[in-house]
Amino acid sequence: MTIGILALQGDYFAHGRVLKKLGHKFIYVKTPGELSQVDSLIIPGGESTTIRKLAKTGGLWEPMKKFSSPILGTCTGIILLAKKIEDPAEEGLGLLDVTISRNAYGSQINSFTSDGENVLSKKKIEMVFIRAPRITYIGDNVEVIAKYDNEPVGVRQDNIIGLTFHPELSQDKSMHELFIELAAT
Ligand code: GLN
Repeated sequence: MTIGILALQGDYFAHGRVLKKLGHKFIYVKTPGELSQVDSLIIPGGESTTIRKLAKTGGLWEPMKKFSSPILGTCTGIILLAKKIEDPAEEGLGLLDVTISRNAYGSQINSFTSDGENVLSKKKIEMVFIRAPRITYIGDNVEVIAKYDNEPVGVRQDNIIGLTFHPELSQDKSMHELFIELAAT
């Protein structure tokens, strides 16, 4: 089982460090050929406009739209996965039935770290929000798996997990473990 980490822009190395620590095999994905070699995909945080543009010019956008294996999207990742993107309206992959509002907590200076809840384990986990988006609509088949301040910040729909925070930047590895479990089934 090889996990692919989309490595066009953003903090993909941080996800690589986590998977290494957890002892899971992974490759960085920059081309359609590399995407076809992986059994699941992580879309990291970064800048969604840039990642979309690079994915389109590199021929990855269309194969990503058709990717039916497990996906974990963090921050920019959940933005790109969304069916609807607001502020401003942009094109998503349409794989996750949520609406996402970009930069909804403000600009870079409004980035913050705080404790939220892993809804599945009922445990408190540290969450890092960097120019984070907000989930403003959740479809019927989407389950809330993480909350911060009573708001959904993590969701799961079938084999897709989307988080508005950065679990790759915290000590808590429960979100990656959950994804690896999903990827193995
Ligand atoms: N604000 C960024 C965007 O719109 C996301 C920030 C992040 O991934 N940390 O893509």
